Amino acid sequence: MSINGRVLLLNQTYEPLGTVGVARAMIMTFKNTVAVEEWDGDRVLRTPREEYPVPSVIRRRTYVNVRRRREASGSKRVRIYMRDGFRCQYCGERKNPVELTLDHILPRSRGGGGAAINVVTACRACNQRKGSRTPEEARMPLLTTQTALRAELDQVLLCHYAEARPEWKKYLFAAGEESAPRAGRKRTA
Ligand SMILES: [Zn+2]
Repeated sequence: MSINGRVLLLNQTYEPLGTVGVARAMIMTFKNTVAVEEWDGDRVLRTPREEYPVPSVIRRRTYVNVRRRREASGSKRVRIYMRDGFRCQYCGERKNPVELTLDHILPRSRGGGGAAINVVTACRACNQRKGSRTPEEARMPLLTTQTALRAELDQVLLCHYAEARPEWKKYLFAAGEESAPRAGRKRTA
């Protein structure tokens, strides 16, 4: 049986909270803390005795404070890699996550914070070359934009997953949310 994949978790108010793994989503369904809004097609999870349909979108039966949403999503590191399209934002090379690092645009030693707007994906070589300088000092202009840096990481992650999940779109791009940030820049090589 396969328990791969992600399930979109909505707040009681239909606001997207993030994603959870299939196993956790099914436990929440069994415990009745969530209602299933969409099923994952005909996909079922088989145990020796039973077959369970797999949810694709679930909604909490009780409201949860949005501040807890971070728990439902991946790590900040991965979300920043996703925002930046797994590309070094200095040389533009697309790399495997293990070859990537996070670079503080304004270095920590110079008072730069850890907020997503000050952190970009960088390959090891570029990160080392930049050292504790600003992009201007290092003459390493950033390939990203302020708009991309300001994108909300949770939204970025959801957009990334939603590319393969058309049934999620109506929840992620609800009316009146047209200004929702787009997932990383699409650069088709
Ligand atoms: Zn690089």
